[in-house]
Amino acid sequence: MGHVKILEECDFDDIVISIKSSDVPTMISAYRLLSEKCNYPLHLGVTEAGTERMGLIKSSIGIGSLLCEGIGETIRVSLTDDPVKEIYAAKDILKAVGKGSGVKIVSCPTCGRTRIDLVGLAKKVEAAVRDIDKDITVAVMGCVVNGIGEAGEADIGIAGGDGCAVLFKNGQKLYKIDEENALAALMSEIEKM
Ligand code: SF4
Repeated sequence: MGHVKILEECDFDDIVISIKSSDVPTMISAYRLLSEKCNYPLHLGVTEAGTERMGLIKSSIGIGSLLCEGIGETIRVSLTDDPVKEIYAAKDILKAVGKGSGVKIVSCPTCGRTRIDLVGLAKKVEAAVRDIDKDITVAVMGCVVNGIGEAGEADIGIAGGDGCAVLFKNGQKLYKIDEENALAALMSEIEKM
């Protein structure tokens, strides 16, 4: 807090504080302590977090858990990768803690009932909606039997059948389509929303 004191003594209080660490538990404890000691806005980040996968995991835990506690005003995700991925990662962390805008996706883990390429479809849906600025939840589910019910909170979604899929909106079936047209049909319905 020494640096902050120097600024305050100069009558300067337009301050945002960052106290990053690459060690997640240390980072979380440091920000918690800081939030108890001052009212300045805090800029959260796990520094030198690592490559895409581990960097995202560390940032999600560090930044995400603090945001869930109501700590933090701005965030930065640091990845050893394309900076564009840092932006999407930051947006996804905000979405995951319920603070971000944009399309949220729920998708099932697949099981013995799955009869379509759900993993491939979910990845395509994720890529197709990532720049859409609509506050909706989209479900990508493997089967109709449990899928529509399990995705109860979704605004719109798709549930796989055998080589086909059913579109649903607010828990009600819309129509059935071939698997290869599933993505296009879903995106066309999302566009109308
Ligand atoms: S939604 Fe259907 S396919 Fe997906 S995990 Fe549940 S039961 Fe299995």
